[in-house]
Amino acid sequence: MAATTDSNPESTATRTEEPRTTPNFLRDIIAEDVRTKKYGDATIQTRFPPEPNGYLHIGHAKAICLDFGLADEVGGRTNLRFDDTNPEKEEQEYVDSIQADVRWLGFEWERLCYASDYFHQLYDWAIQLIKAGKAYVDDLTADEIRQYRGTLTEPGKNSPYRDRSVEENLDLFTRMKAGEFPDGTRVLRAKIDMASPNINMRDPIMYRILHAEHHRTGNEWCIYPMYDYAHGQSDSIEQVTHSMCTLEFADHQPLYKWFIENLGIFPSQQIEFDRLNLTYTMLSKRKLLQLVNENRVSGWDDPRMPTLNGIRRRGFTPEALRAFCGYIGATRTNGTTDIEVLEHFQRDDLNKRASRAMAVLRPLKLVITNYPEGQTEHVEVQNNPEDPTAGTRQVPFSREIYIEQDDFREVPPPKYYRLSPGKEVRLRSAYFVTAQSVVKDDAGNITEVHCTYDPASRGGNSPDGRKVKSTMHWVSAAHALTAEVRLYDKLFSKPDPYDFPEGGDLFDNLNPNSLEVITDAKLEPSLAAAKPGAPYQFERVGYFTPDPDSTADKLVFNRTLPLKDSWAKIEKKTGA
Ligand code: ATP
Ligand code: MG
Repeated sequence: MAATTDSNPESTATRTEEPRTTPNFLRDIIAEDVRTKKYGDATIQTRFPPEPNGYLHIGHAKAICLDFGLADEVGGRTNLRFDDTNPEKEEQEYVDSIQADVRWLGFEWERLCYASDYFHQLYDWAIQLIKAGKAYVDDLTADEIRQYRGTLTEPGKNSPYRDRSVEENLDLFTRMKAGEFPDGTRVLRAKIDMASPNINMRDPIMYRILHAEHHRTGNEWCIYPMYDYAHGQSDSIEQVTHSMCTLEFADHQPLYKWFIENLGIFPSQQIEFDRLNLTYTMLSKRKLLQLVNENRVSGWDDPRMPTLNGIRRRGFTPEALRAFCGYIGATRTNGTTDIEVLEHFQRDDLNKRASRAMAVLRPLKLVITNYPEGQTEHVEVQNNPEDPTAGTRQVPFSREIYIEQDDFREVPPPKYYRLSPGKEVRLRSAYFVTAQSVVKDDAGNITEVHCTYDPASRGGNSPDGRKVKSTMHWVSAAHALTAEVRLYDKLFSKPDPYDFPEGGDLFDNLNPNSLEVITDAKLEPSLAAAKPGAPYQFERVGYFTPDPDSTADKLVFNRTLPLKDSWAKIEKKTGA
């Protein structure tokens, strides 16, 4: 088979049997609850609850697709709720970016909520629990609390402050709120069971003292609720029926229930699903922040980042992400998904929608010696062979054109079907050309290839039924735009970025070749008008989109993904 062919290597033919939507136990639970009217006639309510302490990543896309998508399927509703109970790590910048990302993915929330909106209600409920003898103020230090908590194999022991009177607890908690005590000197704890096999139930902390400014409530509060005390109650306030979260919260479920039951409030239910892990990818906001802070990448939106704004800049599309998330579904056990699955869905989407264009990344000049000097003609090229409605465009053709350096070999290795002396190939939609000779510089590098063309093959059609084995892309030298092209590859060089030797570091696994910058790619002139985010397939090369850095004076394109290159594989195997 020819290394390059007319057909798009991204054949969709074999993919059509793949289900777009896989069985998903969360969908089944919701369907069953609707059928049995578990919540009466109330609509199904879900929420997506990010903490605004970083930018969203592909893992969050999975949660978003489940929270919004599954509610949508049954006519339910979804709130976007910021879980903003950690004033020190949270910022408005993140709040804004998260909203933009959710919308970009194609979802719209019913209500925009903040856990901080519920600080007063949560405080009142804490008072209620204190009055019921179910919460107490503890003066142990953080270290002592840890020691008293016990271990997985040993029960904890009661704090000496556990049996304070309701009056004393009320007094102390009120004074905690009033700011009378320094940070870390006291906490409010739920009085549950220090011997519980579940450590989360050993008198969990409900409130801590923290004199810190909050991005929304300013300095109104100097006590802040812990995640476990805030989350379930926030769900309950919003009448969330299905509170879906990742598996690491499974151990917190008994506590989630305990607060709801002991407060006698709306019975939201928590259901845990598997966290998305992808090969070659690290999905942890904390670590991603570290990459940014240590300048390992250019920012949160570096196109190599797994953040939604990073992959958006790289040219990934919400359609592909939604299709991918539908395909992976949800299960009750954690696993790792091959990054190629995501890339498959992305190529599949772009193959259908990307406008084709011709761009030569590593140019080699081809002079057509029998083509009239000074002449320009326009050839008609299809914008997208996968989509007849995409129409055609006129591309200028002239005597001197650029082809890829890889598309010519003076001495062709076996199975090399592209241009070489005496060989005839097709220039896409233009003409058949036959290489005749090469021009070299003093160092012996080929600077030009001279060839002849067959005027009867105009449009790239065979004049007499004779066949050529290669069709190559090209750009007319006189009309070419020069562009910077950024070729991105995986940010990590190991399938499991956390696989590093003792004493090593996750960042030891960063791929040193994750970015290659080409500064003098040659583009067909129609690309002058390309807008960031607009998808292109540079024929035979890959999928690209203009970077936001791109200007009329300096075009910059990002490679979203390469096409699967059959020649690169042959070359690797045979060492050709
Ligand atoms: P990170 O560890 O990256 O900081 P997080 O879980 O702390 O993530 P949150 O802002 O608390 O991030 O997450 C919001 C929602 O997204 C939660 O319901 C969480 O379970 C879910 N989520 C986060 N990461 C993933 C992932 N990799 N796969 C699926 N869901 C995820
Ligand atoms: Mg979190």
